[in-house]
Amino acid sequence: MPDRTIRHSFKTLVSALCGVTLACAAPAFAKAPSGDVVKVRLGGSGSTTRIVIELDKSVAAQLGSDVDDAKKTVITLPDVQLDQSMSGPGQGVISDWKLESQLGAVKLRLNYKAGARIYRRFLLPPADGISTYRYVIDVVPDDVRTDAVPTPVVTTPTQQVDAILAQEPAKSSRKIIVIDAGHGGKDPGAKGSYSWEKDANLAAAKALRDALEKTGRYKVIMTRDTDSFVDLAARVRIARSANADLFISLHSDSGTSSETSGASIYTLSDSGTERAARKALAKGDWSLNDTTSSDQIVNRILIDLTQRATKNRSATFAQLVMDHIGDSTPLLKSNLRQAGFVVLLAPDVPAVLLEMGYITNAHDEDMLNDNHHRQVMMGQVAKAIDQYFENDVRYASLVGFR
Ligand SMILES: [Zn+2]
Repeated sequence: MPDRTIRHSFKTLVSALCGVTLACAAPAFAKAPSGDVVKVRLGGSGSTTRIVIELDKSVAAQLGSDVDDAKKTVITLPDVQLDQSMSGPGQGVISDWKLESQLGAVKLRLNYKAGARIYRRFLLPPADGISTYRYVIDVVPDDVRTDAVPTPVVTTPTQQVDAILAQEPAKSSRKIIVIDAGHGGKDPGAKGSYSWEKDANLAAAKALRDALEKTGRYKVIMTRDTDSFVDLAARVRIARSANADLFISLHSDSGTSSETSGASIYTLSDSGTERAARKALAKGDWSLNDTTSSDQIVNRILIDLTQRATKNRSATFAQLVMDHIGDSTPLLKSNLRQAGFVVLLAPDVPAVLLEMGYITNAHDEDMLNDNHHRQVMMGQVAKAIDQYFENDVRYASLVGFR
């Protein structure tokens, strides 16, 4: 078989896929790509065996010309870095596989149990919460008839993408957001002229949940989704046991003057941080490292480091929220605040408490009870959450931290 690049076919295929189901930026096919192998997976159904190479860059692969053997195939991935060889047992028609570095490229060697051939290969760009490029190779036994060999003529891209995504651990890549509707049940919170805080908070929490779930990028957990009483420590425990990436508590403010109005946002104050650290040391639900050491000094350093990162992230997120909601909602003059709110105490979950407006102010109370305004405002909070995680990913890849 001649050494043939299938770069052009990829381009056609990926444009087709993007057009139909995926919102994606045009992958860089024109230039020689480079990238690292993240992992290799095998799967398959019926007579087709599928091997998926996950990369952090796009790649244009070539079928090797040096092998004329029905029981193996070599595929070259040019300009791909691989720190050490990878190999593993096969599945279906593949008996084993090996990925190794050779002359600045990576070679994939597939050994077959019996005569087999590659039916199709294609590249899926990052999409739907999956951050890697996936180079997919389908292998079939020689005796299986196929109409399109090996050029990937895709008649049903939607089904194909669905099939790939079905194999992905996509759920785990969704960020976990805990939304905390303040007060509830026997604790009504602040009182307006015709409404209670607990109801405005819950309605906003549901609007935010809907906005986030619509994106498919988040798993949302509510500390309450009915008019029920949940104590403060339980709310923090929910955030921690959910392994939350972000905690947002929604409240409505109250003031002695009916003139006071506007939204503001709180992150944990230093004294609150101190309190969380003391709790963590008091070996409760708060312990950050049950396994590593009982040494309190080590514990203390770990908690300090976690809290510094958590505080920085909370502050970043708080600023983003105010930047976004400022378009639709009046803000208090000094709207970035700090306090020792109990719900913000989890040492390892970035957390903010948003006071959406003053229920004791006539105009704010109307906005808090207006369905349309609520949807606009929570849509903007959802945008702030998107941007927070976009920045976070960029930051993580810069410093190699995650
Ligand atoms: Zn409140």
